[in-house]
Amino acid sequence: MSLLVMKFGGTSVEDPAAIRRTAAIVAGRIALGKQPVVVVSAMAKVTDQLLRAAATAVQGDRIGALAISSRLRSRHRDTAAALVKDSSALINRIDQKFDSLDEILRGLAALLELTPRISDLIASHGELLSSRIVAAAFREMGIAAVHVDARKIIITDSQFQKAVPQDTLIEKSAREKFLPLLAQGKVPVMGGFIASNEDGLSTTLGRGGSDFSAALVGGAIQAEAIEIWTDVDGIMSADPRVCPDALRVKIISFEEAAELAYFGAKVLHPATILPAVRKNIPVLVLNSRNPICEGTRITSLAPHCKSPIKSIAVKKKLSIIDVVASRMLMTHGYMKSIFDVFDKHHCPVDMVATSEVSVSLTVDSNEKLPSIAADLGQLADVKYEGGKALVCLVGDDIRGKNGMAAQIFNAIRHINLRMISQGANEINLSFMIDEDDADEAVRSLHAAFFQDPDPAIFDVEARKQ
Ligand code: ASP
Ligand code: MG
Repeated sequence: MSLLVMKFGGTSVEDPAAIRRTAAIVAGRIALGKQPVVVVSAMAKVTDQLLRAAATAVQGDRIGALAISSRLRSRHRDTAAALVKDSSALINRIDQKFDSLDEILRGLAALLELTPRISDLIASHGELLSSRIVAAAFREMGIAAVHVDARKIIITDSQFQKAVPQDTLIEKSAREKFLPLLAQGKVPVMGGFIASNEDGLSTTLGRGGSDFSAALVGGAIQAEAIEIWTDVDGIMSADPRVCPDALRVKIISFEEAAELAYFGAKVLHPATILPAVRKNIPVLVLNSRNPICEGTRITSLAPHCKSPIKSIAVKKKLSIIDVVASRMLMTHGYMKSIFDVFDKHHCPVDMVATSEVSVSLTVDSNEKLPSIAADLGQLADVKYEGGKALVCLVGDDIRGKNGMAAQIFNAIRHINLRMISQGANEINLSFMIDEDDADEAVRSLHAAFFQDPDPAIFDVEARKQ
């Protein structure tokens, strides 16, 4: 069998036109002899709106919460009606789901208490609905689709809102459910993100969790590949809005993709595809608006690349905190006391640089900074400053290459650097600069490193056109 998992994100199922495009993509794979399992997100923005309805209800605004629900109801009903000719059964089902959602929202508005468990129950409606609609639409378009309730397949523990999958149970249920359907030529369609604990209560895998669902299913049935269909062409050598001659990266390692993910490469969060990588199943990022594009292939081992850098990423809106130990020079336990402050405020630290007398740390700019600085002020002199950006160059061949730092910093010699770091895995080199200099830095670096890009790794054809 040629098993394939195809995951479609919110924008790929956002309206009737998107769902038709998605159906055509799936039909195309079937025509190639593939046997797909389809995993879908909620229609774009629906999860946000469901959670907003919950937040509105719990503030006592019953009318406001029900209004959000009613708009969502119309959107789902209209989508179903546009796609399915004889849609009364489907629309009945949609209405039932919204009736029970409205019950929960009324309850919340009366009790004024929202637990993680109820939050998951509410959020699960997005994928419960989208997967039903997509399955029915596929059938209408001649695909032998069968809806599968994800909560029967993806079994988790009871950490609501970020539940941990139970691999052995999932492997068993996925194989038992999907393999016979696939053998009969059916196309299972299930919602991503949603799951249930062993007592059958709805849980979720955390925001953006549909990729994770796809990887879990792919790993369980030993698919030959997992396709993540989104609305960009894949991972790029830089942000094309900043750098118009950015190139698509055709192939990248899991480790490199993981470095980029932190920088908001919105494409996908690699931790979520770990179940696939562990089993050596390649993951492809593809564009449902441009399905002929080959996307980016994420593999467990980095392919050799002639150019040392695969991609340049930027994270903006950061702050830098300088801690200067005037009073106690780097005594034993000093670092710990600094990190204890960040821990106390639940504030993750991105990058650290130390000297004998000072420590500089970077964090996302946030409203906790003044109180963090005040606490650190007990230990040392503290300054903090916002408006910073971290630029990160990623590439497996940065490792052990002589003169890399010289080349990088030569390319941006006109820009003032605040902090530099090369991670232990040596596949990234990052530095911090003023946010206002970030776009210029990316363009200069891109010009320096992508003059003669390796055609095995980058889509150089696109540049020629
Ligand atoms: N619908 C969920 C979310 O918006 C899961 C996903 O789309 O991956 O977070
Ligand atoms: Mg997503």
